[in-house]
Amino acid sequence: MTETLGPTALEARRSRLARVRRRMEAGGVDALLLSHGADLPWLTGYRAMPLERLTLLVLPLVGDPVLVVPALEAPRVPDSGGLVDLLPWTDDVDPIDLVVDQVAGVRSGRFALSDRAWATTALALQRRLPDARWIEASTVTSPIRAVKDEAEVAALRAAGAAADRVALVLQAGGIPLVGRTEAAVSADLGALLVAEGHSTVNFAIVGSGPNAASPHHEPGDRVIGRDETVVCDFGGTLALDGDVGYCSDITRTVVTGDPPSEVRACYDVLQAAQLAAVGSAVAGVTAASVDAVAREAIGDAGYGHLFVHRTGHGIGIEEHEDPYLVVGNDEPLVPGHAFSVEPGIYQPGRFGMRLEDIVVIGTDGRPEPLNTVDHGLVVVDH
Ligand code: ZN
Ligand code: ZN
Ligand code: ZN
Repeated sequence: MTETLGPTALEARRSRLARVRRRMEAGGVDALLLSHGADLPWLTGYRAMPLERLTLLVLPLVGDPVLVVPALEAPRVPDSGGLVDLLPWTDDVDPIDLVVDQVAGVRSGRFALSDRAWATTALALQRRLPDARWIEASTVTSPIRAVKDEAEVAALRAAGAAADRVALVLQAGGIPLVGRTEAAVSADLGALLVAEGHSTVNFAIVGSGPNAASPHHEPGDRVIGRDETVVCDFGGTLALDGDVGYCSDITRTVVTGDPPSEVRACYDVLQAAQLAAVGSAVAGVTAASVDAVAREAIGDAGYGHLFVHRTGHGIGIEEHEDPYLVVGNDEPLVPGHAFSVEPGIYQPGRFGMRLEDIVVIGTDGRPEPLNTVDHGLVVVDH
């Protein structure tokens, strides 16, 4: 069902596996157990459906990784190029038995289990391996996943460019706004994301007028009027080279008529804050410091209390992952970190605005914005 895995993607996956093993060894982890969640496709290319039957990759520190998978799902597992052995199970066996067999040599060991595994899986494993110690798989995988390899940066770049082409259509007035519902505009954005190469649409937030002041507004049947700000925040998943997909995520705010001076003044502050934050995101500074740059610029203008969320989130195979640009995250940025920079200003009941780009820290330690379409408050008056 999937395309053939290209040599670059296969090599990247091999190298991810090697880095995971090194980190397991350093952390004294005997086996990594991956069920639902993004770690599994990141390592194997297989996106398991989040159903009740057990899917679990058993990756021992020593020995071949084995994917315990429902027999009926086995045909969906893409060719891993020999990296992973398949162990399909049918309804007449208890798949937990198969997992326990695989870890027979390390029953009282330290296991790292998917953060997003079902609780039923976690509890069944704990009952059957009472002497084992359990930690979250993210303690092994997350720091590695946060630093994108070349193949991942290429996929993020392609996804960002595709999202930019959609934003360009929006800013050029190619999607009529006035007199249409937010839901209709959201559907147009989604269709364009797919037309520009995404395999799936993850979200297409359209918040108009007072709804623009709700950062995660669910687009509904509100009809967009004149002289309103419209926050459009959209993204999807795009795959390259037969690998699993990587995410795009962009926000542009447009205005349906000449913006009143208050809106214009607010937007100028937002744009300057976003630009300063992107520029400050160089290797060596902390994730929290980028958040502080955006927050300070907006705070200095008196809008600090209206910027109600963190400045950004990491992005990759998942829409939200490490590193988070948030107060308290003193992790230093390094080349390969990919994240959003998306400050916003929200005037409850009146109007709102957000400006978001995805940024990757390049090998030279400088920020590379993956979204470059007009950052200004563009007027779309129809
Ligand atoms: Zn968000
Ligand atoms: Zn977004
Ligand atoms: Zn975002």
